[in-house]
Amino acid sequence: MSTFHLLIDGHLQASDQSDVVINPATELEVGRAPRASATQVDQAVEAAHQAFHRWASQPEVRQQALLGAAAAIRQHADALARLITQEQGRPLHFTQGEVAGAAATFEHYAGFAAPSDVVLQQDEQKRVSIERRPFGVVAAITPWNVPIILLVLKIAPALKAGNTVVAKPSEYTPLSTLYLGEILKDVFPPGVLNVIAGDGQVGARLASHPLVQKVTFTGSVATGKKLYASAAQDVKRLTLELGGNDAAIVLDDANVDAIAEKIFWGAFWNSGQVCFAIKRLYVHEAVFQPLLDALVKRAQKTRVGDGQLPGTELGPLTNKAQFERVISLVEDARRHGATIHSGGAALPGPGYFYPPTLVTGIGAGVALVDEEQFGPVLPLIPFRDEQEAVRQANDSPFGLGASVWTANPERGLALVRQLQAGLAWVNQHGDIHPGAPKGGYKSSGLGYEGGLRGYDEFSELQVVNAALV
Ligand code: ADP
Repeated sequence: MSTFHLLIDGHLQASDQSDVVINPATELEVGRAPRASATQVDQAVEAAHQAFHRWASQPEVRQQALLGAAAAIRQHADALARLITQEQGRPLHFTQGEVAGAAATFEHYAGFAAPSDVVLQQDEQKRVSIERRPFGVVAAITPWNVPIILLVLKIAPALKAGNTVVAKPSEYTPLSTLYLGEILKDVFPPGVLNVIAGDGQVGARLASHPLVQKVTFTGSVATGKKLYASAAQDVKRLTLELGGNDAAIVLDDANVDAIAEKIFWGAFWNSGQVCFAIKRLYVHEAVFQPLLDALVKRAQKTRVGDGQLPGTELGPLTNKAQFERVISLVEDARRHGATIHSGGAALPGPGYFYPPTLVTGIGAGVALVDEEQFGPVLPLIPFRDEQEAVRQANDSPFGLGASVWTANPERGLALVRQLQAGLAWVNQHGDIHPGAPKGGYKSSGLGYEGGLRGYDEFSELQVVNAALV
């Protein structure tokens, strides 16, 4: 497993150039990822194009292959989870959960009842039906925070619907996806699933390839906007899962002891590197101090360290750029008068370790509140009037997730429905139902992933009109 290859047309391929992938816990090399050349990008797309018609016409083969993918992942689960931990940083028990989720996702789509054709008219004269057609080649471009599950949430429904795929992982965490390609090499017919690696330029070449019909992307808003612009050239179909700056609102009746642990994990899971983590915590004055105290106590006992060591709760930031961004956001907050109640400085190296950090004394207008921190730093902002908290929560270009915390779920439901977010929770933050379509409002995304609505993003409709006389 120490040598990694691209998967193109059913063959493992080396490349002339490669990129070193670093373990963020040790800053040592995990392995080298082959960087796809322009020719290899084109080969992968052409292979997917060639494989498409046969694959699209064989629903039973597709179902069996999806089940085979789940079985193959389970067979290699330990090695795959360890590799995610090594290149991404998250503790092993969490990456094992990610891998189990990837296998379950393939199984879910194998058994997924694809919507039937709708017959609008059928009589002696005429038959009119609405049918679904796969697009052809789908490009799946993924980020570094949860690399395998975010990829499988794209490729499993895309393949189920009859498309073929070219996948490109992030240059920070490509090895687990390349290894997944190797695991799945013989599960799918050649060309049905291709895996290439490289940086944004490789992604841009893939996304703008004329034979790619649809791009499904999870990543930053900045890259999402570039893909939106590039898709305009040939009106490519596009699904964008972008960032978030999720607000959680804690009401005056909330039971602090009951919620503190859940809020902690809602904000700090994966060291905050989650698109729908709690990134702003609005807390009613009545419970502000007790909740702050409870979170500080929890943060101070958190075991931060190498995710490969048993007992670790939070690993490092996944890459140096993100590590430095978190450091500079906290410094900027300090300059704006913030008080830091726990953490607040990087841990001694090697490794990009930053402890869970709780910040007060800042509000709108400071980058840590206005922007997505994507790290283990949470600002707490007090409020007195809950409508004012709703206004501040909604005053953001993002709209991915939001939550309300209260002893009275009815009150929570009424308030959470006022929040501009595609994912809304009461007394929890981050749970995703397997049947749920996940999507962001405003700059947080375009389209949906998951559920029937998400599945439908991998097909076109065709209205078939037949005159029978
Ligand atoms: P981050 O800055 O957090 O790494 P990105 O949005 O840049 O997030 O990266 C997400 C994915 O998008 C990665 O696989 C990356 O290589 C890819 N990517 C970056 N720039 C482009 C681009 N212009 N076109 C297509 N893919 C890109």
